[in-house]
Amino acid sequence: MSAIVWIRRSLREYDNTALVEASKKHENLIPLYIVDDKYFQKASLGYPRVKFWHSALQNFKRQLKEKEKDIIVRKGNPVEELNKIIEETSAEKLYFNRDYSPYSRKRDKKIQEFDLETESFKDLVMFEKEEILSNSGSPYKTYTYYAKKWFNKDKDRPQKPQKYNVPELESEEIPSLKELGFEIPENFEWEWNPSREGGMKRLSLFKQKILDYDSDRDYAWKDATSKLSPHLKFGTVSIREVFWETERIKAKNPDNLSGIKTWQEELAWRDFYFQMLYNFPESGEKALQKQFRDLEWRSKKEAKEDWEAWKNGETGFPFVDAGMRQLKKTGWMHNRLRMVVTSFACKDLWLDWRDVHEFFNENFVDAELASMIGGIQWAYSIGTDSQPYFRVFNPWTQGEKYDPNGEYIRRWIPELKNVPDNHIHRPYKMSQIAENKSDCVIGEDYPRPIVDHSEMREKSIKKFEAVRE
Ligand SMILES: Cc1cc2nc3c(=O)[nH]c(=O)nc-3n(C[C@H](O)[C@H](O)[C@H](O)COP(=O)(O)OP(=O)(O)OC[C@H]3O[C@@H](n4cnc5c(N)ncnc54)[C@H](O)[C@@H]3O)c2cc1C
Repeated sequence: MSAIVWIRRSLREYDNTALVEASKKHENLIPLYIVDDKYFQKASLGYPRVKFWHSALQNFKRQLKEKEKDIIVRKGNPVEELNKIIEETSAEKLYFNRDYSPYSRKRDKKIQEFDLETESFKDLVMFEKEEILSNSGSPYKTYTYYAKKWFNKDKDRPQKPQKYNVPELESEEIPSLKELGFEIPENFEWEWNPSREGGMKRLSLFKQKILDYDSDRDYAWKDATSKLSPHLKFGTVSIREVFWETERIKAKNPDNLSGIKTWQEELAWRDFYFQMLYNFPESGEKALQKQFRDLEWRSKKEAKEDWEAWKNGETGFPFVDAGMRQLKKTGWMHNRLRMVVTSFACKDLWLDWRDVHEFFNENFVDAELASMIGGIQWAYSIGTDSQPYFRVFNPWTQGEKYDPNGEYIRRWIPELKNVPDNHIHRPYKMSQIAENKSDCVIGEDYPRPIVDHSEMREKSIKKFEAVRE
């Protein structure tokens, strides 16, 4: 008798918990992937993320085929397609890994009603749902206390699946990106290898840098972070294997632990936001802090000019613009910039955070609801454990501090390539002679600042104060 392993976002064989557990009990497994084409029409998706998913799925299928196994692909509504394949194969059990977004939970609830034994597993995160609670039994809203328990708790280790066979079954073609309605944007730079090999390569490159992570990670021009986020999103690597790999480095470098500890803290942040979304699912749509739910933001329609300038990286604030252009060109943005551009959208432009969310969702290769909502609400000072509303990022000094020589700015804003170091952060202050020398006329080749930051800072604080309880 066979069992179905419904693959969703853990696009790998190694340490795929549902697959591993199923292989312990069944010789014949049916790894199944259902492409729900309606989802592609409804959800706010964009090329980078869909391309990553598409290639990762294709590569996963290819790898299994090389081992004389396969992924059976079906297209359609997941519940209907599951019903069909259960009937077709007389499978005795359905295995899958849990997901935590409101959409996935609603979908998976229907599956649990099937007349077939089903079992779901924790796989995407180290700790889920209510595994880490405060001493009074409620979910943590403050990261520091959560992280303390996260670090002290025993963690699962990665596992290999046991031997299994995949019976021959009809499998449909994975639809092309074009069929799904996605085309490569103009001038896009694709830097990802969305496969198991690609994920392992990123991990191995990053292992050489991890000891310096705490000192280097905020410098936008340094390539000092792992860039594992899309791999963790689509499961081409597992959270357990990356964690335990870094523990191995720790054992070899007992006197140099701060880089590793800081990086593992980011994994804890990821889990923290997943548990927030699970325990407070309304946060996907509403500010977590009730006192700030009535703040009135400017919709992208109302603030059309500012919205366009922000999203196209044409605000006249070079550090902000460089971040937005990196995103547009590659689908990824450095974490320091994610904080700076979001804070700017909030406190300098007063843009509606839900529009920002939709835009990021369409543009991030690693778009992950839990981390994105967590990050946006943090920068907007409306979420859990957020940046306090009166602490406003200064977009000028952020650039001066984290990109002192303007390397990052010049990399992403070619118009500023020849602007000298003393003007790179505030090019609008250049004299006409300096403008001519650097081949960059402010107001023509690169915009003047669209707002006065000091003025917007004051206004923003007042707006928060007016509704604060
Ligand atoms: C406004 C905003 C939006 C964000 N949206 C996303 C998103 O959609 N998807 C996403 O994966 N991350 C998001 N982040 C978190 C963070 O910016 C990215 O995870 C990180 O930049 C990815 O690069 P990396 O893999 O090199 O990270 P590294 O610095 O190497 O960190 C390792 C891993 O830890 C996790 N991580 C790191 N920082 C955070 C964080 N602050 N919160 C949660 N997890 C974290 C990621 O999985 C990351 O791959 C967002 C942050 C902000 C401020």
